Amino acid sequence: MTIGIDSAFDGGNILVRSIDADEVRLTIRRDRGSQFLQWFYFRVDGMRECGCRLVIENAAETTYSRGWESYDVATSADRSRWYRTPSVYDGKTLSWTVRPGIEALWFAYFAPYPLARHNDLVARSVVAPGVSLKRLGSTLDGRPIDCLHVREIDGEIGSGRGAEGHHDTGTGAGSGVREAAGGGRRQIWVIARQHPGEPMAEWWAEGWLERLLDLDDATSRALRRLADVHVVPNMNPDGTFRGHLRTNAGGANLNREWAEPSLERSPEVFHVHRRMAETGVDLALDIHGDEALPYNFIAGTEGVPGWDDARDAELVAFKRTLAALNPDFQTEHGYPRAKPGSANPSYASNHVAATYGCLAMTLEMPFKDTADTPRPTVGWSPERCKRLGRSFVDAVYLALTDRLLPPA
Ligand code: ZN
Repeated sequence: MTIGIDSAFDGGNILVRSIDADEVRLTIRRDRGSQFLQWFYFRVDGMRECGCRLVIENAAETTYSRGWESYDVATSADRSRWYRTPSVYDGKTLSWTVRPGIEALWFAYFAPYPLARHNDLVARSVVAPGVSLKRLGSTLDGRPIDCLHVREIDGEIGSGRGAEGHHDTGTGAGSGVREAAGGGRRQIWVIARQHPGEPMAEWWAEGWLERLLDLDDATSRALRRLADVHVVPNMNPDGTFRGHLRTNAGGANLNREWAEPSLERSPEVFHVHRRMAETGVDLALDIHGDEALPYNFIAGTEGVPGWDDARDAELVAFKRTLAALNPDFQTEHGYPRAKPGSANPSYASNHVAATYGCLAMTLEMPFKDTADTPRPTVGWSPERCKRLGRSFVDAVYLALTDRLLPPA
C-alpha cells in the first residue's frame, strides 16, 4: 500500500519531501513572488492499513511560527465537517498522527473556503432580492473582483417607510455613525480575505451575508432601510486558488497597498479603492485571521490623523456592544494600541478612517481556538465564524441607530 499526497486543487498547498511506510515528511510552499508561507491544504490517502505520522518540516521557518503553539490541525474526511487533530510543535516541526482504518483525509491550516465556494456564495447572494453584483475589475490572473451591493427593497424591505423616517442621528453616549456620506443613506463597506490564507474571513462573510439577506430577519431589514451595504467577500481570489497565505498572484500583500494601489501590482485594492470613492464610506469592516492570538478582537485606527476622544468612544462602544452580543468576541486581548500619528496609511482600515473620517475596524479571528470560550474538538470553526458574522449585523445596526452600549 502506498501513501499518496495531493494538493493540486483549489487552495491546495504542500510539497512532499519523503514518504515512508509510516511517516510522511512535508514542507509548506512559499507564496509565489514573496517570502510568506504558512497556509497548507492537502489530501492523504493509502494509509488505511498502517496509519502514519505526518511531519511539516519547515514549521519553524513559516511567517508566524508562534502560530503553531497550542495549535491543532484542521481535519476532514468528507470536506464538509472539519474537526481538529491534536498536533505537536517541537520548535522545529509540526506533526500529528493518523490512525489506521481511514481511506483518505484532508488536512488544512484552517477549514478551507475554496474559490468554488466563493462562487457559490456570490451566485446564491445575487439571486436574493435587493442584491446586485458589481464586477469592480479583474485580478492579475483574470478573475472578477466581486462586490455585492445590498440595498433596501421597495415595498418589501421598505414597507412604505422611507429611509428618512429612520434617519436617527441621536446623541447617545459616544456611538453610532455621525453623518451619511451620500444622501440620507449610510454606506457600509465590508471587505474580507485580503489575506487568502485566512479563510475564516470568508466564513464570517458568509454568515454576515446570509443574515443580511434574510427577509424574515427584522434587524437585517431595518439595517437595509438605513444603509447600502457593499460586501467584497473575497478580496484575493487569485491567492485563494493558488493556496497563498498573504499575497496576490504577483506577490503583493494587499493590506499594504492602500496608500498607492496600482493596476499592475494590486488591482484588487485599486478597484475597491475607486468604488469606495464613488459611494463614500460611513462604516467599514476589514476581516482577517491572526495566526498567533487565541482571541477574536478588533484593531482600531487610533494612529490616524485627526483621531480624537469622540472617535475613540465610538470604537470602544462598538467593541463593548459586540462582546455583549457574542461572548466569542472579547475586548481585553489584541494588538497594542497605535500611538497618535503612527498609523500606516497602507493598511485598509487606516486608509478608510483617514480618508472618510469614519469608524473603520479590522476584525481578527484565531486559527487556533478561543482561549476564553474554547471548543477543543473543532477549535475556532466555520460555524463559529458564521455566527460571529451574524452578530455583526446586530452591532452595525445598533451603531447606525446610535444605540451602542456607552463606553464603560
Ligand atoms: Zn490578515
